[in-house]
Parts: sequence; structure tokens; C-alpha cells
Amino acid sequence: MSKFSQFFASEWEKSQPREHGGITAWSYSRLAKWETCPRSAYYEYVQKRGTGEKSPALLRGLAAHAECAAIYEGKPPKVKDAILSREWRDTLVGQRADWFPDLEAELQVAYNAEWQRRKWFDPDVVFRCAFDGIAYSDRSSMVIYEHKTGKVYNTHKDQAELYACVAHRMTPEANHVVVNIQYLDLPASRPKTVHSWTAAELMVGHEGKPLINKWIAKANAMMADRDFPMRAGPQCRYCQFRGENGGPCGIWS
Ligand code: SF4
Repeated sequence: MSKFSQFFASEWEKSQPREHGGITAWSYSRLAKWETCPRSAYYEYVQKRGTGEKSPALLRGLAAHAECAAIYEGKPPKVKDAILSREWRDTLVGQRADWFPDLEAELQVAYNAEWQRRKWFDPDVVFRCAFDGIAYSDRSSMVIYEHKTGKVYNTHKDQAELYACVAHRMTPEANHVVVNIQYLDLPASRPKTVHSWTAAELMVGHEGKPLINKWIAKANAMMADRDFPMRAGPQCRYCQFRGENGGPCGIWS
């Protein structure tokens, strides 16, 4: 961006209102968006702007998730319009059989500020998380299945860590929490997608305190933000709030 554009972007930013509330509840995706560009998080989660339209990639991802959930729930596969490969369908059927009857699909969990479990839309909810698949039985490990379409990103391991922390809060007797990230557009046999944490790592993994405290500190920083600065980067190209895309952000004007 030229200095000229930077100047006007800065002036435009100064003209934006500062007297507003912040983000009142967090999730991994909210935090990731805020860390990438606080201003885009402000538009989406404070001002609740957005076209409401779902991109083809998002629609495909939603359909793939629904297909995975149906398999975990033992519903007959709809081969017509299926997004999953035969290999993935077989893999998920095998996971259901392996954990039956303990594998739960699309489990939504929500907590209040005192970290007490709440219903998804309760007014005092400050954290939400949805597990694509989660299982725990009398085995020592708890397993989480996270389904992804599209590319592999390093940040997915961060999401896995948060999900492991939350799962361990739900089931503290688990000795291990395993998060298996399943990239549905890659072969089901693709390795290096399984991350695991011991109970000790989860209990004292952040300066001698529970690892989830690291995430709560990040979330508190996000929820305390009232400035929401613009942060230009490669994500601007596809940002729905960019001026050239019909949005309010003038950083590239
Ligand atoms: S265009 Fe870039 S700087 Fe502006 S809101 Fe989007 S991501 Fe942030």
C-alpha cells in the first residue's frame, strides 16, 4: 500500500466510532478472525454486518460436515450428491463402529464466564465450541474428530489445542486427549493429522496452570478491545468488508 493510501486509511480509521461495545462471546473462529484483522471481527461480530450469502466453498464444507455427521449417526449414506470419497465414507463408518455407542456427532458446548456449562443460546454464554465428533468411554483416551475441507493450515493445530483443553474440562478423568483432524479433500490415509495431549500437559501446560488459561487470556484481550484496528494482509483480497468488495473498510482506497 502506498504512503498516500496509508495516510487516508489512517485518517479514515481515526474517523471511525470508538464508543461501542466489544465482542461479548468467543470461539476459536472468532479469535482467529480477530487475530488476523481486528477490524473485520468488529464488522462481523459487533456490527453484525455481512452479506449473509454463503460462498460455494462454505456451502460445500457445510454439506461435507452434514455427510460426516450422518455417517457418525448411522444414517444410510446418500451416495448421490456425496462429497466424501468412498475411502472417507468407509473411514468414518469404521470410526463409528470402533467407538459405538460412544461417538457423538456435532456436539455443541457452551460455557459462561465461570466456566459452567450452559445451553448454546443462554444469555450469559461467553464461549462456544462445536465438535464434529467426540468420544470417550472406559478407555483412557478421549478422541475428537475435526473435519476440514480445503487446504491444510498450520493454525489448525492451534484449534486442536483449544478443543483438547475444552474436552478435558468436560471429561477430566481422561488421561489423553487426541484430536484427529480429517482433511476430507485429501486421501483418508494421509498421515500427520493426529495431535495429542496428556492430562498433565493440559493441567499445567501454561506457566504451571491449565493450558486453557492461555486461550482465556487471548479471549479476554479480544473482548477488551474497543479500537479494532485494521490489519492489512493477504486476507484483504477476499475480505467481504473491503471497500472494493462493497464493504465499509477503506484501507485499500
Ligand atoms: S479489508 Fe483487510 S484491513 Fe479491511 S477489514 Fe478486511 S481484512 Fe481488515
